[in-house]
Amino acid sequence: MQISLKKIHESAKPFKIEEESVEFYGNFRRTGKHTVAIDGRLKGELELFCDRCGESFRRDLDESFSIEAVDRPVKVEESLDMIECLDGIVDFDSIYKSEIAAIESEYHLCPKCEEEDDFEIEI
Ligand SMILES: [Zn+2]
Repeated sequence: MQISLKKIHESAKPFKIEEESVEFYGNFRRTGKHTVAIDGRLKGELELFCDRCGESFRRDLDESFSIEAVDRPVKVEESLDMIECLDGIVDFDSIYKSEIAAIESEYHLCPKCEEEDDFEIEI
């Protein structure tokens, strides 16, 4: 789903994208000449890989986030929750992909390894 930033109005509009097992939904609205605020939520089930044993497992996903899409260059010192849309297009699919990639890049343990971890702490 792609929307021209210029066409986004100040009143909030809902959006919804459904990928395989995850729903990405929320709303977006104009907050300034060059900025659009997006409040989104990721809900569903995500396949992750355990950082210890490498096994894949599924985890329930329910995360909210707020980001801003801007059609001007983002300065390094500015918030990480900003997305540059220099071509003036807000691309919800790529926002979805980058949010999922951020979750996938975190450290994950499968339920089995998590259990072992708890066990070690008890000793
Ligand atoms: Zn594991």
